[in-house]
Amino acid sequence: MKIDTPSAHVAERPLRRLALLALLFVLAACVPPAPSLIVTPTAAATATATPAPAGEPAQPPAEPDDPAVYTAALRPEAADEAALAGLTRYRLDVTVAPDLSRFGGSADIRYTNRAGAALDEIYVHLYPNLWAPVMQPGRVEVDGQPVTPRWQRGDFVLGIPLLAPLAPGAAADLHVLFDVVVPEEGVGNYDELAFKDGVLALTHFYPTVAVYDAARGGWQLDRPALQGDVIYHDVSLYDVRLTTADDVRAAATGVELARETSPDGAAVWRFGGGPMRDFTATLSREYEAAAETVDGVTYTSYFLPGDEINGKAAPGIAAAAVELFEAEFGPYPYRELDIAATGTTAGGIEYPGLIVIARDLYARPAGDAGFEMVIVHETAHQWWYGVVGNDQVNDPWLDEALAQYSTYLYFAARYGKQAGEAFLATLDRRWERVERVEKPIGLPVSAYSESEYSGIVYGRGPLFFVALRERLGAERMAELLRRYYAANTWGIAHPAEFEALAEEVAGAPLDDLFDAWVYPP
Ligand SMILES: [Zn+2]
Repeated sequence: MKIDTPSAHVAERPLRRLALLALLFVLAACVPPAPSLIVTPTAAATATATPAPAGEPAQPPAEPDDPAVYTAALRPEAADEAALAGLTRYRLDVTVAPDLSRFGGSADIRYTNRAGAALDEIYVHLYPNLWAPVMQPGRVEVDGQPVTPRWQRGDFVLGIPLLAPLAPGAAADLHVLFDVVVPEEGVGNYDELAFKDGVLALTHFYPTVAVYDAARGGWQLDRPALQGDVIYHDVSLYDVRLTTADDVRAAATGVELARETSPDGAAVWRFGGGPMRDFTATLSREYEAAAETVDGVTYTSYFLPGDEINGKAAPGIAAAAVELFEAEFGPYPYRELDIAATGTTAGGIEYPGLIVIARDLYARPAGDAGFEMVIVHETAHQWWYGVVGNDQVNDPWLDEALAQYSTYLYFAARYGKQAGEAFLATLDRRWERVERVEKPIGLPVSAYSESEYSGIVYGRGPLFFVALRERLGAERMAELLRRYYAANTWGIAHPAEFEALAEEVAGAPLDDLFDAWVYPP
């Protein structure tokens, strides 16, 4: 989820900037400064890098129900395979105040009942209220009729009553007006939704339909802990209109379909994309950008003045990670991957087709392994969290520990065995900081203290995957992850399914391994 600074064990805590920087440098000293860790572009990236077509829309604006609005974000081969039918469709129309201090607008959500039983209500999360009561819903309608929603879980969940039971396969249209005052600096989880360092991070900022899982009690409404990632979403389709001041630059999930200037001089952006597990944008008047296109994917880095060295290195790192993870796990589906600096107190946070990196990390020297680790970890989340979803509140190990294991594969493949072992040593040190307690890695976020969440899920967690590889052998481990990725593309995976597949690939029971590492006794 949000919390990842592989080299900076502590960056997952909401530390003040100076403390964070100091700790990051301490941690960087733990990474062997071997020449093998110096960043150099890969041969493939060098050979095929071309400048991004600046300002050119991916597709011309299309009619609202044109599937091209959604598939525009997909690489052609992924667009062929993506099943869009039945996915929740969001049309967001949001206006951001010129000073970036508040925003508001409407969410039109077409929800198709895939629950297998009739539904009387649909639940939406109002994530901004997790941090502070900053989000106020206005008028709520169902199929054009005003309704009175019910608050659940404080002001974090809204239950929207339907006019009549919604049969399986039938769809309802929700219309929700909302207004958000952007939280002040320092509020809540990692300052994820905030205006800091001149950047407005618009994250989990709109009413979001909860996951319905009949096998696990229906609507999944657990309130997230004050650490870790907060969201648990189905992949959905997005058609987003964003109105901002004309001098603002935006990084966003999906692709930019159009950018026009309104009669009063505002910029009106249209973004489309899907299947995606969320829609996120970061806005700043100060952003500079650098882009390169490798193998049909455009990597654009949005960074702040003074951060040019690492800002310009970011696309090459992300491209190298995507190249490796495609070879290891399967294809990256989107045409773009943006890397954007924000004021988050986590090292980085993952979103579909967009990763944000803590602005502080850009101050590190050229070729810094810690900066590289964060980009690689967040890029790995495109596979684990993005395409293959999981319950990030209750099963954080499925994406976090796998993202860490993937980062290990990256360092070993790109810089050699010694660099891989150096990364494994950082995992071991994370675990060491909680005295190598053999706490299961498979618990909900709320079951861990702050230090345990880092030490167990990010430290012991990836070491479980290393142990699993020792049991299976490298070849079958690679087969397991490829099959896991293919079988759960655009879906939500659960630990039992991962274990069952691992046992199938192993051709033998693995209870002893899962009991020793993953599950509580
Ligand atoms: Zn992570």
